[in-house]
Amino acid sequence: MTGLSTNAIHAADHLKRVPDVIPPINVSTTFRYSSNPDELVKAADNKDNIDDTPIYSRLAHPGSNSVEALLGPIVKGHSVVYNSGLSAFFAALTLFNPRTIAIGKGYHGCHGIVDIFKRNQGLVQIGLDDDFSVLQKGDIVHLETPVNPDGTYFDISYYAEKAHKYGALLMVDSTFAPPPLQDPFQHGADIVMHSATKYFGGHSDLLAGVLVTQDREIKNQLLNDRVFLGSNIGNLESALLIRSLKTLELRVLQQSRSATRIVEYLSQNIGQFPDLVEIVHGSLQKDSYIATQVTAHTPVFSIKVKSEDFAKRLPSKLNFFEHATSLGGVESLIEWRALSDATVAPDILRISIGVENSDDLLNDLIQALSQ
Ligand SMILES: *Cc1c(COP(=O)(O)O)cnc(C)c1O
Repeated sequence: MTGLSTNAIHAADHLKRVPDVIPPINVSTTFRYSSNPDELVKAADNKDNIDDTPIYSRLAHPGSNSVEALLGPIVKGHSVVYNSGLSAFFAALTLFNPRTIAIGKGYHGCHGIVDIFKRNQGLVQIGLDDDFSVLQKGDIVHLETPVNPDGTYFDISYYAEKAHKYGALLMVDSTFAPPPLQDPFQHGADIVMHSATKYFGGHSDLLAGVLVTQDREIKNQLLNDRVFLGSNIGNLESALLIRSLKTLELRVLQQSRSATRIVEYLSQNIGQFPDLVEIVHGSLQKDSYIATQVTAHTPVFSIKVKSEDFAKRLPSKLNFFEHATSLGGVESLIEWRALSDATVAPDILRISIGVENSDDLLNDLIQALSQ
């Protein structure tokens, strides 16, 4: 079997339409039908293959087809790409149409979509620690791990078993631990989502999302729905994502190593920093399932500081961390998280480690925390 980076560079080679090493950025929204009358297939009769022959870019286009071909072996399943992570989550709820969803801590935007389904069609929401016996076949358990904004883990196998006992599906939002850090399918996930805006994109210059299934029929149904939801990835974004995927493994492993090292230093030397109360990260979690669930730690962690005032001021003391929302890019970011998620305490900062030199990042954090 070929390795991650080989796949990320070559798995869509068979879809290249010209000899260019880098596929041209394709902006066409519409594609000429075959000139052979015998080859004309009605789109409606071609459902299983809407990704084969481009017709209209809302259905599929050479860029979205290549992204899905590249992602398949990386995410170990059939991938469907969307114009944002939240479009992917919305598409999953639309297809599976659960009556009840079990959802815990996590990205506020996913909760926003759950709220829309509660308002419009009476979706019932329960928590991950609640009794799952109210779940029925077709309901969804949505697990974000590593979780926002902490970068700590939940046990995927445990929730898979708890969901499957009642016929519910386990959906894992694996955005914080993209391949090669974690493979939720190995631990019982039925559907995996990623905000590709984060690590897959990796350069903070595109919005995209992905759903992954190991069932080709579900991929077809998702593709079918996507035609009418109008949420395929844009042509230009797909070109950026194809570029980005080539360095996914290099970037993510470097980011993971740097984050783990920085977390280790700060936690071992926390006494030096009177304003630093706690460092929260998966690498500091002791649960035994973690060793089999992740191969390396997420590059995101959070810190709790002494006061809201210190939390607000810390970002402006840093030289190599931009104060901005989002994560997963090559540039390190820090965010006073209360600005974008009202449920997060005002003394929490979320840190996303980029690919800068890790000594520089650590020294920058040390000088800012020492002021
Ligand atoms: C960013 C994010 C999303 C939403 O993705 P968008 O691409 O911004 O729509 C969903 N889940 C998690 C964990 C995220 O970090």
